Amino acid sequence: MNLFSQLFYWILLLSPLTKEMPERETKYQNGFFEHNGYTLDYQLLYPEHFDPTHPYPLLVFLPEQASSAENPALENALKSYPAVLLLPRKPEEASWTTEPLMEAVMGLIAAQQQLPHIHPDRLYLLGAATGATMVWELLGRIPEKIAAAVSVGGSPALDAGSRSLQVPVWAFHGGKDAASSLRTIERIQTDGGPAKISVFPQMGHEMLDTVLADPGLFPWLFSKFRNEVSSPRVEALLAQMTLEEKIGQLNLVNQGGAVTGTVISQEVENKIRQGQVGGIFGTRGAAKLRKIQQIAVEESRLGIPLITGMDVIHGHQTVFPIPLGISCTWDLELIERSARIAAREATADGLMWNFSPMVDISRDPRWGRIAESNGEDPFLSAAISAAMVRGYQQNDLSDPTTMAACVKHYAAYGAPEGGRDYGTVDMGKVKLHNEYLPPYKAAVDAGVASVMTSFNVVDYLPATANDELLNRVLREQWGFKGFVVTDYTSVNEMIAHGLGDLREVSARSLKAGVDMDMVGEGFLTTLQASLESGLVAVEDIDRACRRILLIKEKLGLLDDPYRYFDEVRAEKEILAAEHRAFARELGAKVQVLLKNEGNVLPLQKSAKIALVGPLADSRRNMMGTWSVSGDFDKSVTVLEGLQAQIGSEGQLFYAKGANISDDPAFAARVNVFGQEITIDPRSPELMIQEALEAAEKADIIVAVMGEAADMSGEASSMADISLQASQQRLLRALKGTGKPIVLVLFNGRPMTLVWENQNMDAILDVWHTGIEAGNAIADVLFGEVNPSGKLSTSFPVHVGQIPVYHSMLNTGRPWDGTGGPKFKSNYLDIPNDPLYPFGYGLSYTTFEFGTPVLSATLMQDKIALSVTVKNTGTRAGEETVQLYLRDVAASISRPVKELKGFKKVFLEPGASTTVRFIIDQDLLKFYNSNLDFVAEPGEFQVFVGPNSRDVQQLSFTYNP
Ligand code: BGC
Repeated sequence: MNLFSQLFYWILLLSPLTKEMPERETKYQNGFFEHNGYTLDYQLLYPEHFDPTHPYPLLVFLPEQASSAENPALENALKSYPAVLLLPRKPEEASWTTEPLMEAVMGLIAAQQQLPHIHPDRLYLLGAATGATMVWELLGRIPEKIAAAVSVGGSPALDAGSRSLQVPVWAFHGGKDAASSLRTIERIQTDGGPAKISVFPQMGHEMLDTVLADPGLFPWLFSKFRNEVSSPRVEALLAQMTLEEKIGQLNLVNQGGAVTGTVISQEVENKIRQGQVGGIFGTRGAAKLRKIQQIAVEESRLGIPLITGMDVIHGHQTVFPIPLGISCTWDLELIERSARIAAREATADGLMWNFSPMVDISRDPRWGRIAESNGEDPFLSAAISAAMVRGYQQNDLSDPTTMAACVKHYAAYGAPEGGRDYGTVDMGKVKLHNEYLPPYKAAVDAGVASVMTSFNVVDYLPATANDELLNRVLREQWGFKGFVVTDYTSVNEMIAHGLGDLREVSARSLKAGVDMDMVGEGFLTTLQASLESGLVAVEDIDRACRRILLIKEKLGLLDDPYRYFDEVRAEKEILAAEHRAFARELGAKVQVLLKNEGNVLPLQKSAKIALVGPLADSRRNMMGTWSVSGDFDKSVTVLEGLQAQIGSEGQLFYAKGANISDDPAFAARVNVFGQEITIDPRSPELMIQEALEAAEKADIIVAVMGEAADMSGEASSMADISLQASQQRLLRALKGTGKPIVLVLFNGRPMTLVWENQNMDAILDVWHTGIEAGNAIADVLFGEVNPSGKLSTSFPVHVGQIPVYHSMLNTGRPWDGTGGPKFKSNYLDIPNDPLYPFGYGLSYTTFEFGTPVLSATLMQDKIALSVTVKNTGTRAGEETVQLYLRDVAASISRPVKELKGFKKVFLEPGASTTVRFIIDQDLLKFYNSNLDFVAEPGEFQVFVGPNSRDVQQLSFTYNP
């Protein structure tokens, strides 16, 4: 007990208050709360004129002694601040911080917060002496629930790294103990936390009354909302801003770099001067952006710096493979490094804000933007999402080599009807929460600075006006503290969605929790009128502006608006040799070997190789979609890559063989950003003839085929996802030569490859491999690198199967795949299973899995699964060991298999290792029909293997 508490204790012991109290009338309601066998008494005081439909703040008062709970000074103050006052009653003999008591108090608070008349964002704590110590405990344990706290005396024991530092705390302290409190508060303040301290030279039991009488206390306390944080600097700035300037901060413009809509911002420089712009994107270059920043800083009234953004989706100028490819590495460390390097280059190019990671779950390969995604699985995508945020932000936005990330497109943009971009998304909440939201949440948990809304509707309401998604889930449930930006003109697009005129949709969007309006200027042009007509309030505008300014402050812009415009860095870092070397390493790791019959791969460097196909010598198509800062001319073609590595006796015979497509109308639609599909003046027949001649001279054919860069990506949905007819003709002709054929496939989506799978000897999926494509592909083809990629999406047999993914639900009439009787869930003409399952990918070596072992078949808290993996081939290689779970009987139907763990192991030939997975309760949890996140007792199946299909199965029972 510290000195202060001791004093309190003795004063109270000697005071008449501790003697038996006379019965008196009380307006408090008594209650008791049972928690884990512990009974906690409490009292509640409701505001005068209590309206049960209105959400009130909840003020939890933790006095030193139960007898001082009913406090007239406090009651008086609450007349001006209507709140529900909750008084847990500490048994006289117990200390506040005994574990069962603390748990009961937390349970009681949680129960109160469930009630409709309690505002979920407004929980306040007030504690004195050991009650104050309890306040600090709660700050450490449930910071995400607390809006603000006041501690009067008590020991502020707090872990400096804890999230609790973000909760505003006002500590009143005195006497000798104050020194340690001061230290804690200073630490919080240095960390950017909103704490303050008032020190009383004298102290005693009257201190609480003095504190309660402080006229600043309740205005301070009740001005705090849990999801609103601020800083003195930002508040000072806000206080100087006019309404127009605040609205200006919410406006994001594009001068015409990468344009993905029909609108380009006009009069940008003038608007910046007028304070009508908060950020700019699509422009890069330290010198160019410095000039633009200068206009904001030197010519606008308050000189508030702009935030400069860009889509740095897979590398910056050193372009890496497309994200779908990167996800096939299943290598989080590598992925984080890719984001780190991208951020280094982008920040050297004047950028501080990145519209990445894109983490939309997609199970529809018709949708072109699957190329930008991490595929079909929430567990894998969530892990990648967090790794990307770490890579971009490095937990330190003030470092000018890091940038603010923007997770997108919130939410469920990857599930449009028919796979058509921007299309309607309609899914139940259980699916949304279990399968589509986890990757966005993972980014939030990793501290992502911003979130982008999606174009689509979710349950008939556009995501850009979706209060449930933005205010409730993102901010209240997940505790997101950054700002929300719309996608390109998506406020305006709500007019077409049928939600009203620009004024209405802009107001709805702001109210729903959007802070920044990308390009459409709905906010800029209508919010003032909406304020006058009462559609929005000043607080709505202030809140959005505050959130944007806070990120600007974190980026260090309020200290130095020019810190990202360093031309010396640009010179040194952009396209640095080590970045290109990394692009090559990553380029090799993304490749997935889908077939390798008779071990035709790797190729001998001494072989005679016919290199054919429209993508073999196509510099324009190596980088893939969304490589807006990449210079296509700097990429390495497959022809160049092979040439560079071929041995002195080896020979390469090249022929284009076919166009990517022979259809000029289709080519014109693909070629919006440049000549990706060029239709050769030679006839298709002549080109095939040339390819056959090349094949004639060779031992083996390498056919480089697939999609042009922008056949996938935004607004690039396809109904037919097989190889284009021109290429199929070439492949069939080559097949006629009888020579072995290796198909090297460029693609931004899973494709339908049944014929190719039957007729090619080997298939190597290289996605769009990036700036070092040719070198990275040669590395794999010649066996310098042993392929280790594993699919992050299933490849369907036929478009009619879509969606097909590993974590589907069972049906009541499952089909066993053998034919069987009628009235089962299947097709008459195709199988149910995909051609290549999720998690699939071969190696030049072989791996053998031993029999998996569970540490127990009864799980209370956690169990372990171990399996031995052996490299049984002749080359060193990497295997990805995958763990899947199935909840056999639950309150709702659960997937037949869900990825719940993966580990990569590198093994020399003959070597083996034991891989161990811990299965804990968190892995069993899912959102049930009430959207509670629960682990339900009962039987579970666990599967382990090299992909989602070829697994071994065990079972255990969960009984906590
Ligand atoms: C895309 C976003 C992108 C934005 C800005 C939109 O069309 O959907 O992913 O970040 O444009 O370029």
